[in-house]
Amino acid sequence: MQITDIKTYITMPIPGLPWLFVEVHTDEGVTGLGECSWYGNNTLIEQGIESVKPWVIGQDPANIEEIWQLIYRRHLRIGGRGPVSAVISGIDIALWDIKGKVLGVPVYQLLGGPVRESVPLYTHVHDARQGPTIEENVAMARETKAAGYQAIKTDPFLSMATQSGPFRGASLVEKLTPSAINHAAEWVGALRSELGDDFELMVDAHARFDVASAIAAARELELFKLTWFEEPVPQESYDALKEFRENSNIAISVGESLFTRYDFVPVLQDRLADFVMPDIAWTGGISELRRIAALAESYYVPFTPHDALGPVAIASTFQVCMATPNLYRQECIHAWFDDFRKIVNTMPEYRDGALWPLDAPGIGIELIHEEVERYAVPSSQGRLTTY
Ligand SMILES: [Mg+2]
Repeated sequence: MQITDIKTYITMPIPGLPWLFVEVHTDEGVTGLGECSWYGNNTLIEQGIESVKPWVIGQDPANIEEIWQLIYRRHLRIGGRGPVSAVISGIDIALWDIKGKVLGVPVYQLLGGPVRESVPLYTHVHDARQGPTIEENVAMARETKAAGYQAIKTDPFLSMATQSGPFRGASLVEKLTPSAINHAAEWVGALRSELGDDFELMVDAHARFDVASAIAAARELELFKLTWFEEPVPQESYDALKEFRENSNIAISVGESLFTRYDFVPVLQDRLADFVMPDIAWTGGISELRRIAALAESYYVPFTPHDALGPVAIASTFQVCMATPNLYRQECIHAWFDDFRKIVNTMPEYRDGALWPLDAPGIGIELIHEEVERYAVPSSQGRLTTY
């Protein structure tokens, strides 16, 4: 079998959230589906896929690892990470999908078989930056708990407009004011009161804050017994993360902004996090997610993959989670599930706060091309200037 083409689709059934899907075609009519969406600049990644076509077309799609290494190694002089690992991700997921379809089994069977009946999820309520009141957020949390979820995440930090004038946007590091920290404590405290002590609650700082702000916030929030405090500081500096670690008493999750197994080595070796959360669409696909999970397992660190993209990312991450022993929970945004069904033929069933497997081979879902076309956006609009 040979790869004959790679097609990309940027589509936006939810306004403001463009998704980038990848379809690998073969000379035997089998196609594989992948995703490497990034809301900030899908155009860059789509052009990256276009640029690697000459290396991938003509290859045997069964050679997943060889193709992974080929794209990665040929870009190592510029790092092999970020946009490059996203390009690899989209193609890698599609190649696993092809392998599953050829062999007639779900991908999790190719990864050693299931180690669980279903995959536990966590989902989101509002983030404070989105503007709802604390009461509105508590109402959403109440409904989410009633729907069967046992764990939710929120970003309780208001937008800190610390930058102005000609340098606005030159630095993404924000500083929390005392009143913003008090608001965050009120936000999280209201959730804890509503949900009870046994419900799992996570806070995401979205890598926004300087070290002093993050430490001050963690000290205020630790009494709410969070499952984790996510990305407390920007992702580039392991030293900043270490400083946060040494000056806070709260569990840490990082990884959505780390790319390939190599970025996770310092986190694990230096014990900088209690959970790792790589994203399948950015860090290197099914192959790399599996490797990062195994790396974390050897440090007894739970794997809890980030997942805030489209339906193909959810369905392919699910395949890895089914076969991964050190899984904690898979992320989802349950409010999007109905939108997923607008553009794919089926999804793993979700009930009781978990995803349940389909018997379909590969990753188990297909695009509905007419619907993908209906919500298509031009490549130039797959890049959001407001991100
Ligand atoms: Mg996050």
